[in-house]
Amino acid sequence: SATAARERSAVLEGLIAQKPGEYRVLTGDRPTGALHLGHLLATVANRVRLQDLGVEVFLIVADYQVITDRDETGNLPATVREVLLDYLAAGLDPERSTVFTHSAVPALNQLLLPFLSLVTVAELERNPTVKAEAEAALRRQQRGISGLLLTYPVHQAADILFCHGNLVPVGADQLPHLEMTRTVARRFNQRYAAAQPYFPEPDALVTPSTTILGDDGAKMSKSRGNALELRASDDETAAFFRRAKTDAERVITYEPQRRPEIANLLQIGAYFAGTSPEALAEEVGPAGAGRLKAVVTETVVEGLSPIRARRRELASAGPRHLDELLARGNARANEIADRTLDDVRGLMGMRY
Ligand code: ATP
Ligand code: MG
Repeated sequence: SATAARERSAVLEGLIAQKPGEYRVLTGDRPTGALHLGHLLATVANRVRLQDLGVEVFLIVADYQVITDRDETGNLPATVREVLLDYLAAGLDPERSTVFTHSAVPALNQLLLPFLSLVTVAELERNPTVKAEAEAALRRQQRGISGLLLTYPVHQAADILFCHGNLVPVGADQLPHLEMTRTVARRFNQRYAAAQPYFPEPDALVTPSTTILGDDGAKMSKSRGNALELRASDDETAAFFRRAKTDAERVITYEPQRRPEIANLLQIGAYFAGTSPEALAEEVGPAGAGRLKAVVTETVVEGLSPIRARRRELASAGPRHLDELLARGNARANEIADRTLDDVRGLMGMRY
């Protein structure tokens, strides 16, 4: 359950702090656009934190996953570079962390074949994301979900297990995905590595799930056009918060259920001010939404300023550095994936 996973995560944090070198994290993003504030607060900052603790971090830029729900890949080389710039600007250190693109690591997709044999179609259909997408497609009277989307949880298992990732930061809503990876690892071990387990059953590091809202009050998302991108200018930032929805009540209070738009602004402001949303609400109080927006704009502009300065500097250096960095990450991912695939073939009696 989510509660049990949260308790386990608190224990894990202690273990990580003691022996960070024993953990390897895999996470990533789909290159569907530049990253936004929601990504920074929900995932990117946490990855950088883990890296800085001494955990080995692998970041997959999941280009094949772009077409799980789209017909076009878009301008991938340009988008991948934008995502790389966001990672680096946020503090990801390519000397310590490995960034790679899915499509550059073919052994990953070979691992998928035995992994797919370990799960049933019914299990895949029960996955909440797959289920939600299937229902949405039905409602919109579109063709059903693609085979790629149906098998998405197993792709994720390959992404995590190829590098023997044993720690996966996830929001509580994503726990079922990780469960599939654990199932695949367990069944593979039972079937092919009974004497000595080969794959780890990765642990979920449950991150506090704050959903950051866009300027329209819906979940901030690359594809909705409602996002504050990390690369945006200070003026664009101010304009974003001017547009942001509030409510008609005069006094600012922190009530996430009843006042989601205000709570969202308070969460964002508190994050950058290093305080709590409650304390920020207390501080602004009767000064109202106008004052809250001014405070939040100022703290966000200030908080993002080093990230944005770094990003501008990296971007102005041109794409070559980024491409080289990615080539190095891809080479390292390939080396590891090839070794894992060779081990897997050996365990399955396929080494000829
Ligand atoms: P798309 O519109 O292409 O789906 P997105 O902006 O929703 O893009 P994803 O690539 O779907 O971003 O999400 C990557 C990760 O970032 C996921 O773990 C997701 O939960 C998290 N994330 C995305 N948007 C938000 C948000 N608004 N608030 C909190 N977390 C978010
Ligand atoms: Mg999304």
